[in-house]
Amino acid sequence: MGMHFDLYTLGVIGAAIGVALSVSFTLLGLVLRGLPALRIWATAFWVLTAAALAQGLNEEHSVLSAIVGSGMIALANALMLMGIAVHLRYPLRWRWPLAVVGLFIANQIGFYLSPPSQTVEALVFGAHSVVWDLWMIWVLLWRSPRDMRNTCSFTALIFAIDMAFYMLRSVVVLFPGTVAHTQLADLLTTWNYLFGILCTFLLSTGFTLMLAERLTLDLRHLARTDGLTGLLNRNALFEIGSGLVDACRARGQACCVLMFDLDNFKTINDSWGHVAGDVVLNHFVGVIRRTGLPRGTLFSRYGGEEFVLVLPAIDSPQAAGLAERMRAEVEAQPATFDTHVISLTTSVGIAGGVDASFEALIGTADGALYRAKRQGRNRVEWVATAG
Ligand code: GH3
Ligand code: MG
Ligand code: MG
Repeated sequence: MGMHFDLYTLGVIGAAIGVALSVSFTLLGLVLRGLPALRIWATAFWVLTAAALAQGLNEEHSVLSAIVGSGMIALANALMLMGIAVHLRYPLRWRWPLAVVGLFIANQIGFYLSPPSQTVEALVFGAHSVVWDLWMIWVLLWRSPRDMRNTCSFTALIFAIDMAFYMLRSVVVLFPGTVAHTQLADLLTTWNYLFGILCTFLLSTGFTLMLAERLTLDLRHLARTDGLTGLLNRNALFEIGSGLVDACRARGQACCVLMFDLDNFKTINDSWGHVAGDVVLNHFVGVIRRTGLPRGTLFSRYGGEEFVLVLPAIDSPQAAGLAERMRAEVEAQPATFDTHVISLTTSVGIAGGVDASFEALIGTADGALYRAKRQGRNRVEWVATAG
């Protein structure tokens, strides 16, 4: 191909794209608040752009290009890595990446004072890039939560391609015969620039995708979670519960719904205050959890002091046994608030069956709960629906 760009043109294109990416990440950070990784990545892009400018302005071996430029590239890598760690909530300390930056700068100063052969210099720079790429790939693939794997894998792929390119370059550098061929050397330098620009652009896409995924997951989580207890809220219960019950029906398995309502909860609020009431609600959730919920159980806050358990693959007598154990545990373990001991009890309504819809089970459990209340509270009532 006769395509040829001089380095100056490439430098200008690179700087323009770098500024565009930095500005767009900075603006994104102004709109999307509460994403600390975004600020770190925006800084990384600014530093990277400044590094490209410092190196572009000085093709000769000046202090600016050799030490300041390379140092800033290392710093940009450290920032990207820390952004990834912060984003994935992986506890990485700043001191480790900064130590690598310091080492690299010391190395560059050494090279500046007594220049090594071009081969050694290229190899050291390549190895440095590979270290950053490997480090980021490792965090992205092995320290990311499962539900963020897709976007993390995309970003890791970009780092892997970047790493492959530097390894390829190192191999070429190791063959003096090919490097001496100036046309090839020129081509490699040109491609180095273009490749750097392309990778940086794709990285910004990868980071944007990661942020979008994080926001979506966080919002979905918030929309489904009860703020006080951290349990599934009512919306999530109906959404997930129906699916669970339908899956049970399809397999011909019985499914049970347990509905809890704390007894005389108004009295607790009236005697100890609403803060104490909240403490008691969380205490109740803890007691139920500690009885050991069967695998696949949904635990949700149905209303104020009403809770629902959906138990898949379990029949009504078994569920009644479990509910009775839970009722007894709640009675046996009073809550503590400040220095006060607040005893509480719960009534439980159970519905179960092989061929009932989720809504039908909820309705039946509610009826059973009403009966438990009428018959004096602190008791379990159950109804096995037809089928
Ligand atoms: P019963 O045995 O008949 O269920 O009596 P109860 O007093 O528990 O009955 P009711 O359902 O009428 O009262 C529920 C109370 O729960 C009313 C409300 O003030 C209180 N409550 C609902 N949500 C919360 C909450 O998030 N925190 C606190 N502290 N109280 C709540
Ligand atoms: Mg109540
Ligand atoms: Mg109630």
